[in-house]
Amino acid sequence: MSKHCLFCRIISREVASDIVAENDDCLAFKDADPQAPFHVLVVPKKHISSLNDVDDAQTAGALALMAAQVAREGGVADSGYRTVINTNGNGGQSVFHLHVHVLGGRKLTWPPG
Ligand code: AMP
Ligand code: ZN
Repeated sequence: MSKHCLFCRIISREVASDIVAENDDCLAFKDADPQAPFHVLVVPKKHISSLNDVDDAQTAGALALMAAQVAREGGVADSGYRTVINTNGNGGQSVFHLHVHVLGGRKLTWPPG
């Protein structure tokens, strides 16, 4: 837990968010600036700055499982959705607590910008 990290503060409920799923390893909440009708962020409960810093399969697997779970529960699993992990500068990462974007509810274009 880093008291300077926005997503750690969301996990500890110091900062309000619209939570959609939670288990021992991860939390999922709605993105505050949604880029699609369905846009949820899935984060590990332990502070990990980026995908570069993941060193255990438990965390990686838990994130993937919860991403699929929220897509299913959000009703976008069958129509389709996209999972995105932005990493560092060129990847467009702005919050340095690892998070998986889960986007759906519209046809998403490819390639990304
Ligand atoms: P990234 O640019 O990949 O690091 O994504 C960070 C995401 O966090 C962006 O999509 C923001 O809209 C989102 N975000 C920032 N602050 C909050 C917040 N307080 N609650 C929910 N989502 C947030
Ligand atoms: Zn954090």
